[in-house]
Amino acid sequence: MKTHKMFLIIASVILILISLLLALSFRFYNCSVEALETRPAFKSGDEIKRAFLSFDDGPTVYTEDILDLLQAHNAPAIFFLWGERITNDMTQNELLLKRMLNEGHYIGLHSMNHDYRQLYLEDNSPQEFITQMIDAQKIVYELTGYLTHLCRAPYGRMSGFTQAHYNEVANSKFRCVDWNIDPEDWKNDADEIFSQLVMQIQKLGFPPELMIVMHDVGEETIIALPKIIEFLRQYEYFITPYSPDHEFIFQNYTF
Ligand SMILES: [Zn+2]
Repeated sequence: MKTHKMFLIIASVILILISLLLALSFRFYNCSVEALETRPAFKSGDEIKRAFLSFDDGPTVYTEDILDLLQAHNAPAIFFLWGERITNDMTQNELLLKRMLNEGHYIGLHSMNHDYRQLYLEDNSPQEFITQMIDAQKIVYELTGYLTHLCRAPYGRMSGFTQAHYNEVANSKFRCVDWNIDPEDWKNDADEIFSQLVMQIQKLGFPPELMIVMHDVGEETIIALPKIIEFLRQYEYFITPYSPDHEFIFQNYTF
C-alpha cells in the first residue's frame, strides 16, 4: 500500500512538471510570435533603407536644442565635433558629450581648427590633418572615455584632399566619411533646407543609404529637423545609429 501511494505521488509530481513545461513553452512561443509582429515594418536584410543624420561643427549653443529634438523623435545621429569648440568650455561640453553618448548618438571628429589652409594647402597638411584628428580624438577620450576613429574632413574630402591625404588616412586608424545629401542648412532657411533635402533624395531615386550633412550652427536647422525626420520615416528610411562595423554603401555627394 505504501509503495502504491509513493508511486502515485511521484507520478503526480511528474505530471505537474510536464504540464508546467508545456505551459511555459506555449507562453514563450506566443511571446516570440508577438515580438515578431511588433517589430518595425522594415524589410529584411539588404532591403532596409538607412538614413544617417550627421551634424558638423559643434558643440555650439545650438547643440543642446538639437539633442532635445532628436530625443523627442527618438532619432540617433552622428556629431562631428570641432576640437577647439570643445575646449572653449570643457566643463559644459563634458556634460554635452556624455549626453550624446548616453542618448545613443555617435561622436566623430572634425579637426581641431577647421582651417582650410592648414588642413589642405600647406606642405605638411596631410600630416597636419592626422595630427588634428588625433588631438580632437584625445579631447573626446579625456572627457568621455570613448575612443572614436570616425572623422569627417572639414568641407569634405572632395574639396581639399590630395593623394597624400588619402594615403595618410589609409595608413592611420581613422576612417573618413563624407555625405550624399547636403541641404546646405548653414545658409538656407528651414523651408529651403527641407525642399533641398527632398529634391536631392528624389534625384538620387530614394537610394538605400542616405548620409545627410547638417550643422550645429543655426536655428533654421532646428526648425527643419522634425519635418526631415517625419519625411524620412514616411518613406521608410530607418534612422540608423552608427556602429564602427557598418560599411557605408552610399556614393559621395555629386550635385
Ligand atoms: Zn565643418
